[in-house]
Amino acid sequence: MYRLIQIALLSLAFASAPVLATDALEAQVQEIERLAVTAHWRESNAKIEDLSSRLDALTPEQRHRVAFVRLRNLGLAGDERAALKGLADLLQQDMPTALRIRVYVTAISIAANVEDWPLAFTWLGEGLSYLPEAPAESAKLLGVASYLHTLVGETGKARELALRALDLVESGNDPRALCLALGDVALAEDHARNFREAEAWRHRQIDACTRAGDLVFVANGKYGVGKMAASQRRHAEALEWARQALAEFEAAGFAAGAWSARLVVAESLIESNRGLDEAHALLTDTLQYYRAQESDLAVAETERLLARLAERRGDLAAALAHFKEAMSASEAGGRVAHERRLAYLQVEFDTRLKEQQIALLEAENELAALQATATQRRQLLLGVGMLGLLVTALLLSGLLRHSFRERRRYRWQSEHDSLTRLYNYQQVRKLGEAAFARARDTGPFTAIVADIDLFKQVNDRHGHAAGDEALRSLGTWISEAVDGRGIAGRSGGDEFTMLLETDAAEAEALLQRLRGRIEPITVFGRTFSFNISSGVCQADGHTATLEQLIHEADQALYRAKHEGRDRVVCANDHAAVAPEPAAGLVVVGSGIEFGRHVSERALSEIREAQVVFCLADPFALAMISSFRPDAVNLGVHYAVGKDRRQTYREIDAAIMAEVRAGKRVCAVFYGHPGVFADVPHRVVRKAREEGIQARMEPGISAEACLYADLGIDPGQHGVQSMETTHFLVHDRRPDTAGLVLLWQVALAGDLSCTRFHAEHEGLQALVDKLLRWYPPEHEVILYEAARLPIETPRAERLPLRDLPTAHYEEYTTLVIPPLDSPTEERLGGKMSGST
Ligand code: GH3
Ligand code: MG
Repeated sequence: MYRLIQIALLSLAFASAPVLATDALEAQVQEIERLAVTAHWRESNAKIEDLSSRLDALTPEQRHRVAFVRLRNLGLAGDERAALKGLADLLQQDMPTALRIRVYVTAISIAANVEDWPLAFTWLGEGLSYLPEAPAESAKLLGVASYLHTLVGETGKARELALRALDLVESGNDPRALCLALGDVALAEDHARNFREAEAWRHRQIDACTRAGDLVFVANGKYGVGKMAASQRRHAEALEWARQALAEFEAAGFAAGAWSARLVVAESLIESNRGLDEAHALLTDTLQYYRAQESDLAVAETERLLARLAERRGDLAAALAHFKEAMSASEAGGRVAHERRLAYLQVEFDTRLKEQQIALLEAENELAALQATATQRRQLLLGVGMLGLLVTALLLSGLLRHSFRERRRYRWQSEHDSLTRLYNYQQVRKLGEAAFARARDTGPFTAIVADIDLFKQVNDRHGHAAGDEALRSLGTWISEAVDGRGIAGRSGGDEFTMLLETDAAEAEALLQRLRGRIEPITVFGRTFSFNISSGVCQADGHTATLEQLIHEADQALYRAKHEGRDRVVCANDHAAVAPEPAAGLVVVGSGIEFGRHVSERALSEIREAQVVFCLADPFALAMISSFRPDAVNLGVHYAVGKDRRQTYREIDAAIMAEVRAGKRVCAVFYGHPGVFADVPHRVVRKAREEGIQARMEPGISAEACLYADLGIDPGQHGVQSMETTHFLVHDRRPDTAGLVLLWQVALAGDLSCTRFHAEHEGLQALVDKLLRWYPPEHEVILYEAARLPIETPRAERLPLRDLPTAHYEEYTTLVIPPLDSPTEERLGGKMSGST
């Protein structure tokens, strides 16, 4: 039966071929197709032969259509192998999907006909992958697919495919396609043994095929109804439908259908137990036909009916013989079915395997794509990151450059004089100190101090701008003259300093060049000239500091001014006549408030000395260091817990060592160097004893400050002035009629000489002793002189008995007014007024 269907399918595969001929060649191609569809394949082959000389004129698609018809006809003519090979080649060509699906339908049908199941199922799988393009062709392919699945027992799948085909054709308006699709659904239901449903579909098939005018498939429908009726044991009805189908198949000339229908007729006759002879005749012919066709299953079915017939007739031996034949044919058919199913499963397996491989490849591709995307993103991020870094780096470098420029600018401004572009005073000193220290060992060093003569007049006569221009020009000329071989700067106003690592003669030569370079200046149309005076001083063995060197050059400048200006005076020329500074020791006092109290004389001694020692408060020390950076701080000999007497010995030794070395030594002590100070007196004495010149310059002491601050005239009632511990320890009696001053009261009782702070016991002992002469309520004063201009002196009044609980500094002084008159009368206005 399936052969019938396949041939029908082959015929109908062209149902949707284009009808309209666009030109003569297309008309010929369509005629070839039409003839093939209507089973006039010989005529169609003749037409193909006619066209063979003009194949080149056809389009590729037309050539493929003609080739397809030729191959189909070849298959129908019995050369199925050649047809299959040709179709396989054709399927390798490029062609429209609709045509390709048509080729697949035919190719699968032929492969099934020759039972090349692997090929049939392979092509089926390929063909189905083009769905659902070209719905009409797709429906046909689904029909073939459904049929092949029924053959391999995949009834469920077959039904599903048939219904899909039906779905496709129902949305179109091709009655013949609908007729075919209904036949496929019915067949699938039949194989699924859904007899009732199958019967119902057969009825629909008969209607549709009648409308389509397809007599073969009308007959096929009727055959199906008969078969289903027989299956449901409605044999009379079945006989009727089968006879009709047989008659119609015979009328249409479809032998295969007729043979199938005969089987149903025979079965109905046997089962209804009438016309057994007719049945026998039908079966004998049918068996002969199917044996010739080698259609095992059909042979088995025929033999089974013959056995049943023999059984009806009571010929059990014949029945057994037929039954055996039926069994062996069935076995053979079963083997074929088995092979078919095997082929199907193999292809399915291959397809699944391929699908899995494809899925695997796709997954790999996806993974690769993801990796590529990830790489791209990474690269993008990296790029963005790099760009960000680059931008940041550029910004940073811009900022750094800017800040570097700014810093350079600020630095330049802090080191230079903006008007003349020379160094400023501080920078000249700073660079000069280093150069001076260097030159001490390496060679000569000379300072020049130059000043514009009568510069005020330039300003007055020509204006400040003219003055500025003169300063600017002079700066340029000085810079040219020094030419990087020294340090040149503006010290302030119209004064310039040059420090050269040369001797005085070269410095004078430089000045001559500079003076020669000075030329008249024109500002706002007015021209004026100016001169400079200069002092030169070359450092020698007596020049201890740069400060001293510049000072001497300055002195020479004054001499130049004094001698009539517009000249150079060299300090060294005059130095020959000036007395050598004598070796020896000078002890000077810093005063209590250095800035105010230090004397000109003391300062001069500090400047002139070769070695400066200093034991003063930090402020005084800092000020001295500003012009004598080489000053030696004696404060380093003090330490907490260290016996002050040891400290004094060390200070003594340090000073005397330099004095004995023949140096001109200046030792600066806090306040008056000779008041409450052992060391200064001792070193002066020692030096003199050793035949070295030594003297002490007085300074302003704390006692001097005390009289000024408290308004006390020591001459009024007399003064007793001593160290507190001395008063405590020795049998000293206060003169209660006069003023008593006890120094370093905080250290009262410190016999160890190691303390710098007040202690209660010492203070109490002091009070106890004083109470012998004074009442506890006697008002006393705790005094501290101011050491800085911003400070005020301390003058705290309190009853004597409260002394132990008061606050003390190391240098606090106790002032005890006389006993015999009230404090106010004894101190302050009344007393000072009385003098
Ligand atoms: P001498 O010959 O004694 O030096 O007389 P002098 O008039 O030059 O006197 P001195 O050097 O003391 O005067 C300096 C003057 O320089 C005082 C001030 O008016 C002037 N001066 C200071 N700085 C500037 C400045 O930046 N620009 C101008 N135009 N004048 C300045
Ligand atoms: Mg001047």
